[in-house]
Amino acid sequence: MTAVQQPLAPHEREMIRDELLRSLTKLERSLKSSGAAARPRDLEQDTVGRLSRVEALQNAGFTKNLEAREKAQLEQILSALRRLEDGSYGACNGCGAPIPFERLQIFPETLACGTCARG
Ligand SMILES: [Zn+2]
Repeated sequence: MTAVQQPLAPHEREMIRDELLRSLTKLERSLKSSGAAARPRDLEQDTVGRLSRVEALQNAGFTKNLEAREKAQLEQILSALRRLEDGSYGACNGCGAPIPFERLQIFPETLACGTCARG
């Protein structure tokens, strides 16, 4: 069992690649806009009162969390694209079995099969 398993047919790989590139474009656009909205300087200018300042900070925290999550997702997508190129894409990180194509269609950046992802 030394041969690299290629669990996906060429047209399936194409579909996954398209899907990953679509998500990538969407994320990059979203990251650009949220980055502009969450500048700390905007908070300094808030002099209305303590409550609204707290709200502003909470909103900034929320945006930051969202941004961190989107950045992590971006990393996962880029790594999936790399794996697609080097042929290691579609094998489960946990058990090594091919991840079902139906699952890859829904979660193209996933590293684990349904069983391993549930723990
Ligand atoms: Zn697995």
